[in-house]
Amino acid sequence: MSRVLNFSAGPAVLPEEVLAQAGDEMLDWRGSGMCVMEMSHRGKEYMEIHAQAERDLRELLAIPSRYKVLFLQGGASLQFGMLPINLCPPGGKVDYVVTGEWSKKAVKEAAPLCDLHIVASSEDRKFTCAPAQGEWRLRKDAAYVHYCSNETIRGVEFHWVPSTGDVPLVADASSHILSRPLEVSKFGLIYAGAQKNIGPAGLAIVIVRDDLLGRARPGTPSMLDYKVHADADSMSNTPPTFAVYVAGLVFKWLKRLGGLSAIEQQNIEKAKLLYDVIDASRFYHNPVDKRDRSRMNVPFTLPDERLDEAFLKGAKERGMIQLKGHRSVGGMRASIYNAMPVEGVRRLAEFMREFENRHG
Ligand SMILES: *Cc1c(COP(=O)(O)O)cnc(C)c1O
Repeated sequence: MSRVLNFSAGPAVLPEEVLAQAGDEMLDWRGSGMCVMEMSHRGKEYMEIHAQAERDLRELLAIPSRYKVLFLQGGASLQFGMLPINLCPPGGKVDYVVTGEWSKKAVKEAAPLCDLHIVASSEDRKFTCAPAQGEWRLRKDAAYVHYCSNETIRGVEFHWVPSTGDVPLVADASSHILSRPLEVSKFGLIYAGAQKNIGPAGLAIVIVRDDLLGRARPGTPSMLDYKVHADADSMSNTPPTFAVYVAGLVFKWLKRLGGLSAIEQQNIEKAKLLYDVIDASRFYHNPVDKRDRSRMNVPFTLPDERLDEAFLKGAKERGMIQLKGHRSVGGMRASIYNAMPVEGVRRLAEFMREFENRHG
């Protein structure tokens, strides 16, 4: 068996220990004689897997009891639409911060449903920074303020939590949730697709303050109503059972490592390895303001895009894949989520230096 070093932005690398355990338990989950995929979601085995996953997530993020945790389907993209129909009455006001491709998509989905106002944007700076709080022109009567706390494509991360007074703060945290401790009580709602830093695709997690439930617009289909899912502990219909199970194994893995403060230290170390190579060279370039650089997604360009192919080929020969940057940005992008070992990032950093020496 030989595993690659997978720098994909998502679906992304998972901890080897987790995959091995899922493999061991594939045919017979702990004496049940079944694979988790084959279990009734109402049976006691799956109910326990589901409840344990929620307990471990709550413990990792220290989620206060007044917040509900939902295990949903439809990816983070469904939340772009579910959010306004649940939190904003028809014609109501919502405020959005635009810092890149994902927050733009969120705007596109919500704009037809609400009186939507862009309260801050870094578009004029080519999405290379997180606009400072002082630039945000918030409306006091907005139903919520939405931002993307880590922009996966250009690698811009908010290393601070905005304060929005009494207006609920909503974050799309898809690509950095669980990479660092998070003060959940500062948010009204946090959502994330699982396939970056949590587990398999097919699962999205929503953490929502309970006073924001029960406000869905009249006529909202029940599967799009947060309250329906909250009241049924995400079992109103069949949840993505196998994805929840694997996410649960990831939560246990994180707890064994020492929780989010421990993984944060690793993530700081990993990101530094790559940014140090970039900053020490005139060959590689990353345009993001240093203080807003993402620890999870590290985009960089080479001095001449004709070198891109040779870089990707050399990386592949060394077992490193999925380094091609997003089509809208070009260049390279290394996504170094929780499950990417420090050693894997070190190997990439070494290859980057070696490539620069040869072509620089
Ligand atoms: C990947 C991503 C999404 C979209 O996730 P899907 O699960 O494919 O819908 C949304 N927001 C951010 C920040 C992402 O990184």
